[in-house]
Amino acid sequence: MSRLNPILAGSAQSTEAYRQAIAQSSEAVAQWLQQPEMYQGKTVAELRERITLDFNPQGLGNQAAIERAIEYFLKDSLAVHHPQCVAHLHCPSLVVSQAAEVLINATNQSMDSWDQSPSATIIEMKLIEWLRTQVGYQPGDAGVFTSGGTQSNLMGLMLARDAFFARQGHSIQQDGLVGNLKKIRVLCSEHAHFSVQKNMALLGLGYQSVTLVKTDRFSRMDLNDLQEKLAQAEANGEQILAIVATAGTTDAGAIDPLRAIAELAAERQIWVHVDAAWGGALLLSEKYRDYLDGLELVDSITLDFHKQFFQTISCGAFLLKEARHYELMRYQAAYLNSEFDEAQGVPNLVSKSLQTTRRFDALKLWMGLEALGQKQYAEIIDHGVTLAQDVAQYVSEQPALELVMQPQLASVLFRYRTQQLSDAGDTALALFNQKIGDVLLESGRANVGVTEADGVTCLKLTLLNPTVTLEDIKVLLALVEKTAEQIAA
Ligand SMILES: *Cc1c(COP(=O)(O)O)cnc(C)c1O
Repeated sequence: MSRLNPILAGSAQSTEAYRQAIAQSSEAVAQWLQQPEMYQGKTVAELRERITLDFNPQGLGNQAAIERAIEYFLKDSLAVHHPQCVAHLHCPSLVVSQAAEVLINATNQSMDSWDQSPSATIIEMKLIEWLRTQVGYQPGDAGVFTSGGTQSNLMGLMLARDAFFARQGHSIQQDGLVGNLKKIRVLCSEHAHFSVQKNMALLGLGYQSVTLVKTDRFSRMDLNDLQEKLAQAEANGEQILAIVATAGTTDAGAIDPLRAIAELAAERQIWVHVDAAWGGALLLSEKYRDYLDGLELVDSITLDFHKQFFQTISCGAFLLKEARHYELMRYQAAYLNSEFDEAQGVPNLVSKSLQTTRRFDALKLWMGLEALGQKQYAEIIDHGVTLAQDVAQYVSEQPALELVMQPQLASVLFRYRTQQLSDAGDTALALFNQKIGDVLLESGRANVGVTEADGVTCLKLTLLNPTVTLEDIKVLLALVEKTAEQIAA
């Protein structure tokens, strides 16, 4: 029956096929969630061997296709909700986010024009207005939902670039890049996200345009070095297009001194973009909101809701302090956002986005905020930050573990270190910790991050999951120690 009705529509047959397909899939998920393992432990080679694409000319039908997805995809997926899945800024999702996905997907609204997403367009705009009030921006709706931090950072850097050239009477949009481009610089800290480099390359200015500012012992941008780099740039005849500050570096969770950076930049008319992909979650926090002090001063902001806001991938936003800067990327397509439409006040969000067809991801945040309420949302965000502090304390009490940096957001950087290993030298110590991470993932029991902090190879726990307790992490750390002893033996 479902084979005769491949399209979701209003016929009795189609809606029945839809119910069956969704019921079959969600039942499989409910069962998969019961699985005790974090991962089945298959290697790259094993998965390559096992997974085959069965594009039978006759078609298998929905039911069989779903069964195959359960067998070959679902069962060998990583359980991101598992208490020992703590390697990355990769969150377990809210139940209500799953319900939102059902609505988003079934309605398949596209956010580019109002006539393709009437209620969705208004909801997204209201959320942008609300997010702006959380930041402390003036009322307005300058901003848009994005696919995530990488795209939001691109929008910030692109508008910073175009505003910079516009001040010199030049339209990048019309004429492209001109002048001595080798002299153009963006400043960000050594621990800023790599998408700053990638985006500058994409914007035609190359990795060479990015000057890295030194960081302090907590991975935060060092203000003295920032001032020095600004002075050096001036002395060299370089021009600073933007400063990118980070609120929540990917490893240490470090938050750059936002207010001081904004004030330094204001004196020189430099655009400040804040990458708050991770730390933006503190906008909702009850205990830690003041970590974001000064955020309201900056020109543009990246927020990610698929990190510590517990939304399914993708869900991010870009906020722009002054709506007039949106003029820099204005493009009017007769069929989407005509002048006629705009004169009548019809909101076509394509004007604010780099994407054309775009998902209605804003629904997830709206439903999450309504379902949980701000208080519970704040609790699950604060949980991770507080847990990281407790875990750090515990780690520092274990003789074979060393805390590498005091936590700032919800991550803990540490390493396994015994006297014997220290005697073997830095390289051996680094390799040993790398090995611990690899062996744990191969065993399927835990996914612990491996990274570097100031040249020290260490292990990383990213403690986003609000259902995880200190007891769970003690179990995980015991497993780390046991694994280390087995490797050593
Ligand atoms: C995750 C992250 C990004 C990239 O965001 P995506 O949503 O993965 O594109 C950018 N900056 C920081 C600080 C991040 O943590």
